Amino acid sequence: MFVSINPANGLELARYETHSAAGVDQALDQAVAAQKEWRRQKLTVRSATLRRVASVLRLKKEDLARLITQEMGKPIVEAEGEIEKCAWTCEFYAEHAPRFLCDEIVPSNATESRVVFDPLGVVLAVMPWNYPFWQFFRFFAPAMAAGNGAVLKHASNVPGCALAIENVLKEAGVPTGLSRSLLVESSRVAALIADPRIAAVTLTGSTPVGAAVAAEAGKHLKKQVLELGGTDPFIVLADADIELAAQVGARARFQNVGQSCIAAKRFIVDESVADTFVAALTKQVAALKVGDPMDRSTQIGPIARADLRDGLHKQVEQSLSEGAAVLLGGKAIDGPGAFYAPTLLDHVKSDMTACREEIFGPVAPIVRVRDTDTAIAVANDTEYGLGAALWTRDIARAHVLSHEIEAGAVFINGMVASDARIPFGGIKKSGYGRELGEFGIREFTNIKTVWVG
Ligand code: NDP
Repeated sequence: MFVSINPANGLELARYETHSAAGVDQALDQAVAAQKEWRRQKLTVRSATLRRVASVLRLKKEDLARLITQEMGKPIVEAEGEIEKCAWTCEFYAEHAPRFLCDEIVPSNATESRVVFDPLGVVLAVMPWNYPFWQFFRFFAPAMAAGNGAVLKHASNVPGCALAIENVLKEAGVPTGLSRSLLVESSRVAALIADPRIAAVTLTGSTPVGAAVAAEAGKHLKKQVLELGGTDPFIVLADADIELAAQVGARARFQNVGQSCIAAKRFIVDESVADTFVAALTKQVAALKVGDPMDRSTQIGPIARADLRDGLHKQVEQSLSEGAAVLLGGKAIDGPGAFYAPTLLDHVKSDMTACREEIFGPVAPIVRVRDTDTAIAVANDTEYGLGAALWTRDIARAHVLSHEIEAGAVFINGMVASDARIPFGGIKKSGYGRELGEFGIREFTNIKTVWVG
């Protein structure tokens, strides 16, 4: 049984029956059968289907956004933005997949040699609650365009979203069974990975779970894409536009109530401008409106689950005991919901909890550094390597520095964001493989050589 709880008030929203072993078996059979047909569909048909998915998402945007907000607490305006982004990404792949998947002719000794992109089969998607629609659609839109099917095991706290995704696809006329949402506990994921009907695995979530899933998939030699945690640096050099960096930095850290893998998790600031930057950031953060996530003016809703809020507070307390200084917040907000006050921690060092661990909530640690070389060294002093933001007016230098930063993406004078047009993914303990763009669509394809003598 899955119980969905509204984190804004702690009240139960609904209960959902778990899928039985027979139900799972049937879903896998259906997915395999549907995918066998789907892979033979022309790209024009796949694109038309993706466009219909986009239309249904837009048509149901308000209801779907409300469900997201009720189940995991993000502000309603951001939930609507999430659905819009899913729709746009479906349209993006509807338009560009035919080009991305076009055969490539490669000159060789053969009469003709070409590379073709065949689908892999049915992909198991293990997904988190933080962007309950987007995390799925950013995998599924390209995977489906490439001819794959999917089985979704969503996070336990968003079962309503999991089923709503299945309904959107059904309403859009996606072939029955091509993508199924299975309500199963995480203890049943290993058996799914082992099942011969599953061809590959994609996971977005925490690093320890990524390692566990990768080990299982490795045991069965199944392709994996892992999009895991991050401690993304937001580096502010001495010549940066401080006011703008603080404005964008506040958004980069506090959007989605800080629960994003690519949130700015460590502000690394040149000490010559640190006081000015901290003052500007403090002003931004103090102005954030905390409250009912259904209210359109709310910017900070609750944390997705009470246990996650408690874990977050432990990390803050630990950082304070290690010597960090609290400038704002630093505590849970009283009341029935899982709210946490927007928090600023100054004088944080690389070896403190707030830097070493992924902080998944509205908490911004500030690390003051001597110079640019130290900023880059501190940025790289982490097990993770997802994204990084670099603020400086010297773009030529920023390009040089971007090669020194150990991350899957470097955003110069901006905030790290996912975008259907550009690849997304990490290195080190942030995982491997890429989603989105042309690289993303190829992850779940058999890049096949066809050679003619
Ligand atoms: P998890 O990594 O535990 O969950 C992500 C998904 O993996 C869920 O569907 C979950 O299912 C499933 N899962 C959990 N354990 C296993 C397992 N042993 N084998 C297979 N699948 C498993 O994230 P949490 O929700 O517990 O969040 C904890 C922390 O993870 C956060 O505080 C944050 O640091 C990080 N996180 C990072 C995300 C990112 O985007 N980088 C996203 C979400 C979390 P179930 O819900 O049933 O356990």
